[in-house]
Amino acid sequence: MGASTPGIASGFVGAVGQTPLIRLNALSALTGCEILGKAEFMNPGGSVKDRAALGILLEAEEQGVLKPGGTVVEGTAGNTGIGLTHLCNARGYRAVIVIPETQSAEKIGLLRSLGAEVRTVPAVPYKDPNNYVRLSGRIAEEIPGAVWANQFDNLANRRAHYRTTGPEIWEQTGGQVDAWVAATGTGGTYAGVALYLKEQKPQLRCVLADPHGSALYSWATSGELSSEGNSITEGIGNSRVTANLEGAPVDDAVRIHDQDALQTIYDLLWQEGLFLGGSVGINVAAAVETARRMGPGHTIVTVLCDSGDRYRSRLYDAEWLKGKGLQQPERAA
Ligand code: PMP
Repeated sequence: MGASTPGIASGFVGAVGQTPLIRLNALSALTGCEILGKAEFMNPGGSVKDRAALGILLEAEEQGVLKPGGTVVEGTAGNTGIGLTHLCNARGYRAVIVIPETQSAEKIGLLRSLGAEVRTVPAVPYKDPNNYVRLSGRIAEEIPGAVWANQFDNLANRRAHYRTTGPEIWEQTGGQVDAWVAATGTGGTYAGVALYLKEQKPQLRCVLADPHGSALYSWATSGELSSEGNSITEGIGNSRVTANLEGAPVDDAVRIHDQDALQTIYDLLWQEGLFLGGSVGINVAAAVETARRMGPGHTIVTVLCDSGDRYRSRLYDAEWLKGKGLQQPERAA
């Protein structure tokens, strides 16, 4: 058996992508639409960001800027860093990860277990030079032979989704897809898939989902970047339009409250047996709202970004939620 034997994935890299598209049965019945979730939590590094991390690394290798034994530096809410660190281990690089200290202990602990050099920093706005993303760029400049992954503005990110996630969704639905709904962090997933699917089917609706505290809902609906409130979700929302989001089609936008996102992930656990993270609550609640706006009979695809395991001490902890002014949903008897 060789690396190209059908059914055998060649190492970690070969196992990234080709995730199932899961029909969310209860929500499909509720809305009269087909609500489908791309199961990105089943990637080998546990999130949708494995695809972006791989795309960024492969392009850096192809361009010759990343050399054997080199270092990859990134500022990340966690998942990109986790994907990159797995890939660095698999391909012989060192990973230096800069992460805001507000991110879950599970993600920060996992990065350390995987062997990344982790630097936790205070969470400050993008305009501050010590913002984690900007700091990661400066650290990359200081380390000889280091490459800055720069996931927010490196278009290798959305190209990975244009090349893989988009075509997979198109094939898995047999082209029977009416709407694509996703929240954006870097915008790589949303934009890469939106650009690909629109090319196949111009009448497909691309819907940007957003938590409170992010400026993208107002940008999408009024053209102005402004935000209100805040969110406990991690890895999504932004105060600016990244290079990855720039130029992506946006036909509609939906803003979701944390309490509704929370109810959604608990419903997914209790009704579907799926244990998922907070951004999935925003995505799936926005997919349901899109179904309501479009009416029955449509197929709506969204992303199941990562697992609930990464947020057990937060989203699945009643006391932690109470401290954030949120109520843990109660299971019907
Ligand atoms: N959900 C989670 C949990 C994430 O970590 C991310 C990545 N920041 C996203 C959604 C959004 O993905 P993207 O960066 O491709 O917009």
